[in-house]
Amino acid sequence: MRVSIDGEDIQRAVASIISAIGEDPGREGLIETPRRVAEMYSDLFSGLGKDPKEVLETVFEEGHRELVVLRDIPFFSICEHHLLPFFGSADIGYVPSGRVVGASKLARALDILARRPQIQERLTDQLVDSIVESLQPEGVAAVLSAEHLCITLRGVQKPGSKIVTSASRGTLRTQGATKHEFLALLSQR
Ligand code: ZN
Repeated sequence: MRVSIDGEDIQRAVASIISAIGEDPGREGLIETPRRVAEMYSDLFSGLGKDPKEVLETVFEEGHRELVVLRDIPFFSICEHHLLPFFGSADIGYVPSGRVVGASKLARALDILARRPQIQERLTDQLVDSIVESLQPEGVAAVLSAEHLCITLRGVQKPGSKIVTSASRGTLRTQGATKHEFLALLSQR
C-alpha cells in the first residue's frame, strides 16, 4: 500500500497557519513557504505506506551465528505529538540464525520507519520487530539515542540532552552473556 501525500492540501494548511499566527501569507518571504513545506513533508513522511521488510528481503545464507553489531546509524524522524524533528543515532545488534543482511539495508529499514509521524519508543520497537520478521535471528536489540526539538526548543531540557530507548528480542533479551557482549561492544567508543 502506497500512501499518497496531498501536496495541495498541505499548502492550504500551511497558508492557514501563517495567517493564524497573524502573518501575511502573501509577503515575499512567505509566499513560497506553503509549497516548500509541502515538498519537504513528502520527503519527511516518505516512509508512510512502505514496509521495511521489503528492503530486508535481500538476505545472505551464512553459517555465521555470532553477534553482529552496526553502530552509529544516523536517523531523522518527526515527533507525532508536535510535528518537530527528533534525530540522533541507532545501534543495532543481532545474532543471525544463518541469515545475514547488508548493513545498508538495516539503515534503510530504519529510514523507512523514521520517515513518518513517530514516537521514539515505537520506532525502536518497530525496528527490532521488522528485523525479527525478516531475518528470524536468534536475538536482536537496538538502542536509539535522539535529541527532540519539541523538548529542547521549549526549554524543558537543555539543548543536547537526549532520550535513549532500547528494545530487545530473543537471546539478546533473555541471555545475559549475549546481552552483555552487545552492551560491551557499544561501550567501545
Ligand atoms: Zn514532541
